Amino acid sequence: MDHEAEGRGLWSKVLDLVYPSVCHGCGDGVAGNRSLCGACHDELPSLREPFCRSCGEEFEGRIDGSFECPNCRDLDFSFAFARPALPNHPVVLEMIHELKYGRRIEIAAELGRLAGRAFADDPRLAVALSEQWPLVPVPLHRRRRLWRYFNQAEEISRSLGAATGLPLCRALLRTRSTSSQTRLSRAQRLKNLKGAFSLSKSGAAFAAAKPAGAVVVDDVFTTGATTDECARLLRRSGVQKVVVVTVMRG
Ligand SMILES: [Zn+2]
Ligand SMILES: [Zn+2]
Repeated sequence: MDHEAEGRGLWSKVLDLVYPSVCHGCGDGVAGNRSLCGACHDELPSLREPFCRSCGEEFEGRIDGSFECPNCRDLDFSFAFARPALPNHPVVLEMIHELKYGRRIEIAAELGRLAGRAFADDPRLAVALSEQWPLVPVPLHRRRRLWRYFNQAEEISRSLGAATGLPLCRALLRTRSTSSQTRLSRAQRLKNLKGAFSLSKSGAAFAAAKPAGAVVVDDVFTTGATTDECARLLRRSGVQKVVVVTVMRG
């Protein structure tokens, strides 16, 4: 290969990095700000009944009426419920990893649209739409934000806001940098998170008005320790009801 062709090859790789052009599901080319082609997008399963009304964990088999999974039965969350839009799915998980660790901010647009399915599918979220509850992204500590350039939950919220018409409120700050939570048990996570958040200026003004509700937004719902801590602070500060919406159930 001559130098020019090699250069072009390299340049097209750079362009591919800057402008996403392939579907994360099948590798086909996609247009504009999409990260999935139409077929792969439509194939991704939404969360299906029956699922836990607290954490969105899908349950195999038949259950009449709403139920809480054995794990949630023993927990007293500060949020009313968490509603992942999708069950755990490898394509979505890969997109979330690319967004966070590959710093591919453009993927947030697709993930925010996917999160919008929660509002379309779940009647419990109708009140958030009619009363215009703000979307409150789970905050990142300044240091991690500096590394990533952006907060993925905030970028997802932005796209989710465009899909639902709900306003964005950056109500929370992460005041303490917490080590990665992925290897910690639930009890360790809770201890790790104590006092890790505070209200921003706009958050304090929002909560002081004793608003009816807020929607905490994150990429994945895993143990719920982080979103619960966010909900606890919002509730304690005056927000009457907090619900959680995530793209996916971890
Ligand atoms: Zn595809
Ligand atoms: Zn549950």
